[in-house]
Amino acid sequence: MFEKILIANRGEIAVRVIRACKEMGVRTVAVHSTADAGALHVNLADESYCIGGPRAQESYLNEDAIITVALETGAKAIHPGYGFLSENAGFARECRDCGLVFVGPTPEVISRMGDKDVARRTARAAGVPVVPGCDLIASPEDATAEAERIGCPVLIKARSGGGGRGIRKVERPEDAAAAFEEARAEAESAFGDGECYMEKFVHPAHHVEVQILADAAGHVLSLGERECSVQRRNQKLLEESPAPCLDGHDDIRAAIHKAARDLAREVGYVGVGTIEFLYTDDGAFYFMEMNTRLQVEHPVTEMVTGLDLVKWQLRVAAGQPLPQRGDEVPPVKRAIECRINAETPDFLPSCGTVTGLHAPGGPWVRFDSALYQGAKVPPYYDSMLGKLIVSSPTREEAIRKMRAALGELVIEGVSTNVDLQFDILANREFAAGMYHTNLMEHLYE
Ligand code: ADP
Ligand code: ADP
Ligand code: MG
Repeated sequence: MFEKILIANRGEIAVRVIRACKEMGVRTVAVHSTADAGALHVNLADESYCIGGPRAQESYLNEDAIITVALETGAKAIHPGYGFLSENAGFARECRDCGLVFVGPTPEVISRMGDKDVARRTARAAGVPVVPGCDLIASPEDATAEAERIGCPVLIKARSGGGGRGIRKVERPEDAAAAFEEARAEAESAFGDGECYMEKFVHPAHHVEVQILADAAGHVLSLGERECSVQRRNQKLLEESPAPCLDGHDDIRAAIHKAARDLAREVGYVGVGTIEFLYTDDGAFYFMEMNTRLQVEHPVTEMVTGLDLVKWQLRVAAGQPLPQRGDEVPPVKRAIECRINAETPDFLPSCGTVTGLHAPGGPWVRFDSALYQGAKVPPYYDSMLGKLIVSSPTREEAIRKMRAALGELVIEGVSTNVDLQFDILANREFAAGMYHTNLMEHLYE
């Protein structure tokens, strides 16, 4: 195992990784921006270094500064968390060239799966069904022609997109050209890459994703699936495992898991990763994308399998074999996660200082956050403050437990989406376990 690692992230995920390291006897180096000087991850790490200004470009995306700190402090590996540099193949390569272990798959795998257009073709080659669509769109005229061929509604999606951004819905072929120009401009400014492709808009659909864990010897395990159909603007709000839409469909569940493992094997995947699918109630499923990193909602899988994914990520990165043989680790419970975001009821980001905080407790209640009384919530980063996760033997009890836990949670000083999470839990479609990616639209009706 590594003696010391650097965590190239902030917020709850940096804290999560530091906690795993403490349990494993691994020393930790934190990096931070000037805005995060008082942040929890800075306090919890064995060493911490300020690497730049508040904007991510100056600090958490400052590759040279991060690598310099790692080399100077004698860290052997860099854990990128999620977001920031976690899916940056150039950074992973730079780490390798400097003799540092990047905790994740190889740069080659990251670039192959990070380009969603190439990932689609890779999935097809592995025999995994993909959403009907087209390769890269060459021009506005091409966009119109493809929208006609595929059949509206369609989505125009950025090949480098992520976090639910860079996606445009097109209802009529005559709108495709303008939507393409818009999507291209947005993707160019958000991801530095304007290339887009097109997919049939699949609806009503479930977002079902499979958690993969693979070691360097080529052993691939699937650790159950998660349903993440509760989304607003293509961003996840609440996740659960197992996926209720697959209850009673064990054959389809097995086929989705097998497709995910096949794809991971096809690319020689090592580490934790997630393969996202759209699933329709007629039993069809389509590959959507692969996230070559630890996922925000990984605790849901940890709760149902009993495995610590961050520890396994580090062990696999250090060359150790997987915990068990076979193809999958079956879930033994139900778990739900609510993302707690700092936002106003109209979804505007909220920032400030946390003046009061009470975290819920009790068995199988987990609150992953970097909050403390007096913590600053700066305006420069993602609005997610933390995640509340619960598990129970049944889904009904898990929902009741989540309601109780949300009721105990007190965050003062910034506005949060806790009331919205209560509304979701009370929704009839959600309670019945039969909801699609349009649930949030129904919630507002
Ligand atoms: P998950 O797939 O784990 O649910 P999200 O899509 O919510 O993750 O993204 C997690 C974090 O990573 C968010 O802060 C999001 O803005 C960021 N992120 C995801 N993909 C990208 C990307 N391609 N470029 C930049 N940031 C990204
Ligand atoms: P990101 O990298 O931003 O996470 P995804 O490709 O995973 O992008 O898509 C984000 C979300 O958008 C999905 O979870 C799903 O709800 C919706 N979506 C994406 N592609 C389609 C599609 N072809 N049809 C219907 N919904 C889609
Ligand atoms: Mg996605």
